[in-house]
Formats: sequence, structure tokens, C-alpha cells
Amino acid sequence: MASLDYSDGCMIALYPPPELAEKLAIEGGLTAEELHVTVAYCGDAADIDGDTLRAVVAELTARRPLAAQLAGLARFTGGGKDVLVVLVDSADLEDLRRDTLDALYERGIQIPRDHGFTAHLTLSHVEPDEEAPLDRLDALPIEFTALSAVHGTDRTDRAFAHPMEPVAREAFATGWALSGGPMTARVRLACETAVRIATEATDDPDILKATIDLGRLEGMWALLFQRREDQQAAHTRLVTAAWRALLGRDAVAVMVDSLRWRARMTEARDPERNSIRTEALAAAKAMLHALADLAGFSALRVAIRNAIAAGRAEGMVNAVAIAAERANTIGLDWNLAFKDAYQALERLDELWADAGGWLGRTLDGAAADLGRVLADSAEAGLSREEMIDAALDVLTADEGAVAFTVDWAMTTAADEGALSLYQSEGVLQIDIITAGDGRVCPACIDAETGSPWRMGDQPRMPLHPSCRCCYAADVSLAHFAAWFV
Ligand SMILES: [Zn+2]
Repeated sequence: MASLDYSDGCMIALYPPPELAEKLAIEGGLTAEELHVTVAYCGDAADIDGDTLRAVVAELTARRPLAAQLAGLARFTGGGKDVLVVLVDSADLEDLRRDTLDALYERGIQIPRDHGFTAHLTLSHVEPDEEAPLDRLDALPIEFTALSAVHGTDRTDRAFAHPMEPVAREAFATGWALSGGPMTARVRLACETAVRIATEATDDPDILKATIDLGRLEGMWALLFQRREDQQAAHTRLVTAAWRALLGRDAVAVMVDSLRWRARMTEARDPERNSIRTEALAAAKAMLHALADLAGFSALRVAIRNAIAAGRAEGMVNAVAIAAERANTIGLDWNLAFKDAYQALERLDELWADAGGWLGRTLDGAAADLGRVLADSAEAGLSREEMIDAALDVLTADEGAVAFTVDWAMTTAADEGALSLYQSEGVLQIDIITAGDGRVCPACIDAETGSPWRMGDQPRMPLHPSCRCCYAADVSLAHFAAWFV
């Protein structure tokens, strides 16, 4: 009895476990290795790309192993030969068949439609007048642990996901959804890690609870970082707008024209150039600090003060969010809490002093940029107009001194807000947690490793500009009940 030759065709199929296949194979029929359940026969191998077929299988195996019942025999008639088959009964197989057709269709593969789908496993081909070699088969459970892409003579098996995998994924997603946080690359990565841990710890009765908690924790951090980024961006825009309003072309032209050394710069000999650089920096500094006399300057001061207040309020909310996460408490209304904390800072004069300090740093940072550009452009022999353009460019650049300083000021304010909240709640031990986002400096990792710190001994955060690392501590949430819904 010849077996079917698939060497020219291609299909997606399920192969039974080898021991079971040995039991099912009958003499004169398909060999144990050949026994399979076709999920979708796709036609000639020459017409279908093998990689595409394997990609479909990879996509389809992100599900648990497929359980089915071998439900007795049937004899298909109507072809040249009759076909003796084992019927395969499984709702999961119906789903798999439907998903397979969808996945193939999405890649432009339409399978031949000359037969409907009757799930079966062919045992043997029999002449129409020949007696069946077998009349009965007891019902038998079967589990398919892999799905196969068969392309001509090439067969690639791919295991279905661990049974725990979809369950753990769901658990993580549930926790993440509870946090109200955004889906970020970091959250996705954490999910993969949590799922892998869960599949390795299936004996642990608390593993799903732990996976939910991980999802919630990652969601909380994602929300925390997103809120910080959004606020930094919003306040950077506001401060930058106030800053740019001070720097009209006319104002910058006055600065450039006041540079008496500009004319001699091009002829200057090397030793003289250094002194001219120093002179340029001093001039830039003087010119920028003179902006304080302009009408728009108080608007800039207000914008910086508001940025610091927002950073500080957000830091307080973050501190409570972290404490709530540590206490397994959900329901923090971040926006309400922020509004509340921000309003409480309304009369805090300290913020104006802070704003003055950061304003000074902004001017110094901008002066350093401007001094360099003025010296460079004088050295390069640029014309007055070109010099004004270069000065305007560096002073109003998106990534310039203003954006840098606002970010730093807000980060510092957030860390101060968190620290003062923990201090006023009588916290004795405080942790430092790195953001784990690629911007972590070695100093932050050391600070994290040194946790928990005795309150007062901890390093003063931020340890570097653009730092997103945080303080974390336990506090009684009773004082913040109004922030929870
Ligand atoms: Zn850091």
C-alpha cells in the first residue's frame, strides 16, 4: 500500500506524539512518522514561499498545546481509492483551522477550496472493494505539542506555547490595566520576563498573584515616567516661549554690534585667540544678564517658578504612588493628587528663590553657548548678519541651555518634593530606585545597591542631569486618603 507523497505539496499540520503514532500505524498504511492531521493544505510547494509558511506557524503557536479526542474511524469514499481515517474531535482545532486560514489569507495565500474541513488522521488507502484492515478504534485523548510547516520534503516543527504562558500574560495584563499606566517598550519587556518566570515556577501556588503584582508595578512606573516626561515637555515649552520672547532679532543684533573685538578677531594671532574667547564669554554673560531689564523677564521667572512647582508636586504624588504600590493599594487619582499638591505650594516663597537660582543657571548655560558661537563665528570671519543668525540659532535651539536647565530643575524639584514628603511622614529608611531606561549613570546604580539608606544618609538626588531615578519608601496612606478613589 503506497503512502501519499507530499513531496510537491505544502501544508500546515499536526503530528501525533511518536509513541501514540506507533500505536496507531497499521500494516500496509502510512508509517508512524507519516501520520498527521492536516490543518490546511496549501497546494503546490512551488507556489508558496517556505519562509512565509513557517512565519504563519510561528504566529499560530503562541497558544497552549492543543488537546483533542481521537473519536473512532471513518472511511472516506469518492476518490480513486477509499481512505481509512481516524476522526479528530476538538473545538481548539476548529479555532486553529480558522486562525490558520486567516493568517494565510493575510499573507496572500488562499488555500484550495475543493474540500470542506473534516478533521482526520489518515491511516491507510484502501481499494473500494477491499475490506478495511481495522473496524473499530477506542476513543483516545491526544495532545499535540507542536505545529508543523511542511514545504515539500522540508518539515519544520514549532512547539506551542507553554500552557502557563497565555495565563501568565493575561495575569500581567490584568495588573497592568489596574495601574492605569501606558503600554511602553519597558512594560512589554517586563511582561516577557514575568511570563518566562511564571512558566518556570508553575509549582508555586502564588505565581499568578505575583505576576499580577508585577504587571501593576510596571504599569505604575510607566505611568510615573510618562507623567514626568509630559510635564517636563509642557513646561519646557512654556519656559522656552518666555525665553524666546526676550530674544528678538533686534535684541540679538544689539548684542552682536556691541562686540568691539569682532573686527580684530579674524586677524588675531593664536595666543590672542584664547583671550578673545574669554572676552566673548564674558560679553555673552553680560549681555544675557542684561535681559533682566527687559519687560518680558518676569514672565520667564514665573514660567520657571511654575515648572519647579509642578516638578515638586509631581514628586510628592510619585512618592505616594510608590508607597501605595508597596502597600498593594490601588485607586490613586494622580490628577487630583497633583492638583492638591500643586495648590498647597501656592504660597511657598522658597519656590521664587529656587526660580532665581535656576534662572541664573539658565543664563550661564546660554551664555556659555553664545560665547562659544560668537567666538567661533568671528574666527570664521562671518558677516554681521551671519553672526546674528548663528547667535539666534544657538540661543533658541530646542535642545539648548533652556531645555536642559528646565529638565534639571524639574527633576531636582521632583526629588525634593518626594524627599520632603517622606521626611514629613517620619520615614526612617529610604530606597533609591534607578529608572532602568539606559540613562542610568554608575552613581545611580551604586545608590540603588546601597539601599535601604537611613534617612538623612541617602545621596542627594538627582545624581546627574536628566536623571529619572527615584526615592522610594513606605508611608502610611491614611494621610492621603483624599487622593484615593
Ligand atoms: Zn539616575
